Amino acid sequence: MFTLPVKYIMVELDNLDIKILTHLQGNSRKSFQEIAKACLTSVPTIKSRVDRLLELGIIMKFTIDIDNTKLGIAEAILLVNARPSAINRIAKELLEMEEVKELYVTSDSDTAIISRIAGDMQHIQAIQDRINLTDVNNIRVISVKAPFRKDTTIPLASSSITLTCAYCNRKVTGDTVRKKFDDRDYFFCCTTCQGEFEKKYNKLLAKA
Ligand SMILES: [Zn+2]
Repeated sequence: MFTLPVKYIMVELDNLDIKILTHLQGNSRKSFQEIAKACLTSVPTIKSRVDRLLELGIIMKFTIDIDNTKLGIAEAILLVNARPSAINRIAKELLEMEEVKELYVTSDSDTAIISRIAGDMQHIQAIQDRINLTDVNNIRVISVKAPFRKDTTIPLASSSITLTCAYCNRKVTGDTVRKKFDDRDYFFCCTTCQGEFEKKYNKLLAKA
């Protein structure tokens, strides 16, 4: 599984990278020309930067936003109050449903699951018929009339943009160890961290 050789690469994001990310975060179809113009640089520069951001796995994919209301899709908030011992089981059941878009387990004393669900309205209303209600105290589906703010992007502040070591969480600067696990790129500050991470990762895999 871990056949890829450890590679040393330079991972440093500068202001131009952050500007490019911010432009693409706002509109992933923005042309390289437009971005180059806004950043006062050339199209080939933007292209090579975007290629590098893709290569590093910092840009994972280009997506689109769809206006769901135009497609007859409804959104709702699902609230589940249950005994603490049942929370994980219920969360697991819910996460298997394609209607479940986000799910949070709160740290409140009233152990609860809050979930944003979306899909065919009838399916959504019937969601409680599709889970095992043992140990559930209360379950509610609240329809969303109008989502006033929906933004999944997180503002990129240049000061906070640094890669962190996947093992020790320290800021990674200069030479970085990069390794693929399960098709995902991980970055490490040194080979020791990479080795420790690999041990931990393999242990987790063995347990699963
Ligand atoms: Zn480290």
